[in-house]
Amino acid sequence: MRIDLHTHSFVSDGTDAPADLMREAKAAGLDVVALTDHDTAAGWPEAQRAADEVGITLVPGMEISTRLGSASVHLLAYLLDPVHPPLVAALDRILDGRNGRVPAICAQLRAVGVDVTEEDVRRSAGDAAATGRPHIADVMVATGAVGSRDEAFAKFLNPGRPGYVRRYACPLEEAIGLVGQAGGVPVIAHPWGRAPGALTEETLAGLTAIGLRGLEVDHQEHSPQARQTLRGIARNLGLVVTGSSDHHGTGKVDHDLGCHTTDPDEYERILALATSAPSTGSAAAPRRG
Ligand code: AMP
Ligand code: FE
Ligand code: FE
Ligand code: ZN
Repeated sequence: MRIDLHTHSFVSDGTDAPADLMREAKAAGLDVVALTDHDTAAGWPEAQRAADEVGITLVPGMEISTRLGSASVHLLAYLLDPVHPPLVAALDRILDGRNGRVPAICAQLRAVGVDVTEEDVRRSAGDAAATGRPHIADVMVATGAVGSRDEAFAKFLNPGRPGYVRRYACPLEEAIGLVGQAGGVPVIAHPWGRAPGALTEETLAGLTAIGLRGLEVDHQEHSPQARQTLRGIARNLGLVVTGSSDHHGTGKVDHDLGCHTTDPDEYERILALATSAPSTGSAAAPRRG
C-alpha cells in the first residue's frame, strides 16, 4: 500500500484542481492520499468525489500556519471536523492575514522596481481560498521579472528580502489544541525543513504532552541525517512517523507525488487516533476566499 499524506491543490498554492490531483495520485500508483491545502478544507468535497471515482482513499487534511515564538511552524491536521467553530475562527483569522498582507507586499515590490499589482495577484490566485506568496511569485514569473517561483522567493519573498511581509499565524500550542478538539490528528510538517532550530527534542516533548501526535520525517527538505535523528525522537516520544511528497503540482520542483511515503502501520495509527468522522461532503465545505 502506497500512502502520501501531504499534497496541495490550487485551493491553496498547488497548481492542480483537487479532482486532477486525485487522478494524478491514482496514476502515480498511490492507494491513499491526503489533501492538505494551507489553512482550508475548501478542496475536500471535490477531491472526495474524484477519489471515489478513481478508487483511491482520500485522507481529508490541511496544513495550518502556526508559530512557535517567532519561528514559523506548519502543522498538518488529519481527519478533523472542518466546521468545528473555534477551528473555523482560527482559520478565518489566518486567511484574513494572508489576504491582508497582499497590498503591502505589492507596494514593497513596486518600491524596488518590480511591477506587481493587487489585481494581478487576485487573478493569479483565482479560486484559491488561501492566497500565498507563490501566487505573487507566479505574477513575477508571468511578467518575466523572475524565471521561477524559487527565484522569486530567493530574491524577493523570503524573510530578509525586499518583498517580505509578516502575516498572522496561530500559536502552535493553540493550533494543536484546536485540532484535537476538532477530533483530528496533529502532525508537524517538515519539522527540520527550511527554518530548523526551534523544534528541539525537549520542545517536541512538551508539545507531545499537550496533544501533538506525529512528525513528518521523510520529506525532501530533510537530510538523511535529519531523518534518522527525527525518527529516533519520534520513537522516544511515541509519535507517529509520516513521509510525504508535499506536492504542489508544477509549483515546486522535486516534490513528485509519492516521492516519500508513509508506512501503512503508521497510517493505521493516525486512523486510530482520530476521534471524529469528518464529512467531506459539500455540507462541510467552509467559505472560499
Ligand atoms: P506563504 O503561504 O505565503 O507563507 O508562502 C509559503 C509557501 O510558499 C510554502 O507553503 C511553500 O509551499 C511555498 N514556497 C516557499 N518557498 C518556496 C520556493 N523556494 N519555491 C516554491 N515555493 C516555495
Ligand atoms: Fe505551500
Ligand atoms: Fe509546509
Ligand atoms: Zn505543504
